[in-house]
Amino acid sequence: MPPPARAEVVVVGAGLAGLSAAVRLAGAGCDVHVVEAAAHAGGRLATERIDGFVVDRGFQVLNTGYPRAADLDLAALDLGYFWRGAVIRVGDRLHRLVDPRRHPAAAVGTLRAPVGSLPRKAALAAFSARAAWTPVPRLLRARELTAEEHLRRSGVGTAALERFLRPFLSGVLLESGLQTSSRYLDLLWRSFARGDIGLPARGMQAVGEQLAGRVGDGRVHLGVPVTAVEGTSVRTGHGRVEADAVVVATDPGTAGLLVPGVVATAPRQVTTHLHVLPSSPWRDPLVLLGRPGGRLVNSAVVTDAQPAYSPDGRALLASSTLAPTGEAEVRDEIAALHGVAPRDLEHLTSVTVPGAQPAALPPLTLRKPVDLGEGLFVCGDHRDTPSIQGAMASGARTARAVLRALRPGQQGAA
Ligand SMILES: Cc1cc2nc3c(=O)[nH]c(=O)nc-3n(C[C@H](O)[C@H](O)[C@H](O)COP(=O)(O)OP(=O)(O)OC[C@H]3O[C@@H](n4cnc5c(N)ncnc54)[C@H](O)[C@@H]3O)c2cc1C
Repeated sequence: MPPPARAEVVVVGAGLAGLSAAVRLAGAGCDVHVVEAAAHAGGRLATERIDGFVVDRGFQVLNTGYPRAADLDLAALDLGYFWRGAVIRVGDRLHRLVDPRRHPAAAVGTLRAPVGSLPRKAALAAFSARAAWTPVPRLLRARELTAEEHLRRSGVGTAALERFLRPFLSGVLLESGLQTSSRYLDLLWRSFARGDIGLPARGMQAVGEQLAGRVGDGRVHLGVPVTAVEGTSVRTGHGRVEADAVVVATDPGTAGLLVPGVVATAPRQVTTHLHVLPSSPWRDPLVLLGRPGGRLVNSAVVTDAQPAYSPDGRALLASSTLAPTGEAEVRDEIAALHGVAPRDLEHLTSVTVPGAQPAALPPLTLRKPVDLGEGLFVCGDHRDTPSIQGAMASGARTARAVLRALRPGQQGAA
């Protein structure tokens, strides 16, 4: 459906940031319309069906420890969860590092895992406890370092860093140098320590679709690319929309083109290969980490966490590399990690996402300005943190800024 010629607020982009802003503005009684170039709501959270399997565009998960997860109806998403922790392979042996509070039966194995002496493991536990329980303002007052320096100074030791933390964080930050800001690492680790990671039964796109459903009937216009933002009007392939306020909620690269002065930080990329096995080689839903020196950062049987991703009980594997790889280049490594023969892996599809998330290097401004003045606003993960949390938080922040500008007297606008 084409957008109207006039709206109080027009939001460009139906990713989690734009939708979070639109839901709040609609809730405050604004006449808000969202125009989205793609054919789906949810932006980078995109899901398709291939041969009956639910396939997300790249391996990603919803972390219930994110503060903004409270904005979602998690029960309606019908999440299937991974265990907190990961599996590492050292030599020929697999070792589980799991949260002993959740999985006491695996505590002994975790204590024996070859990631350093007991004092090193205690340092890792202390790092997690600090991130989980220190008030956020105090966490953010700590001196900013790179993630690697921060971990080294925390005393976790080289074995934990190289065998567990670097591969684990590479899969989340999409960079293996751990050059990301320690501020973002602290916030991220806090959410891992406080929440669980899961997959919605209908795929990650369901998160965006849930938000889109709350904006209101006929207010999210799909397949409508915006070609220019001029003052408080936007030009689209379906005509111009005049508004009192425009919120540019696109990916950072497009925001930089539509809004002069918005600078996009280096985009991180990831390649994910999807394979099918007749059944899962594992008992428990755990993410396996790539080995130091290997190409894989992680690999997981996603159907162990969320069985609804499979049409018939077969197992679906998602294996990711930071550098673009061909399936044939990593098939043996994936098979070795899971202890199966390479010929048993049936290749379903592979996807490379070039702009998966923006970098968050030090010095990191955690809350970049969203109100650019004259009725123009910008939001997205590049304004806060490169994550689902960052996108949703920036949308919420932007909605408050729009309400302050358009309805200064309205209660709750501040
Ligand atoms: C493979 C992958 C794995 C990830 N893993 C995780 C994870 O595990 N945990 C986590 O927290 N985060 C993860 N992320 C990051 C997370 O998905 C993003 O940070 C978040 O979704 C960004 O939301 P956004 O609304 O800021 O931007 P986007 O989702 O990019 O939304 C922007 C929207 O604007 C639209 N648009 C662009 N140009 C135009 C135009 N000209 N006109 C109209 N519309 C336009 C786009 O189509 C898009 O829908 C991952 C991302 C990827 C790709």
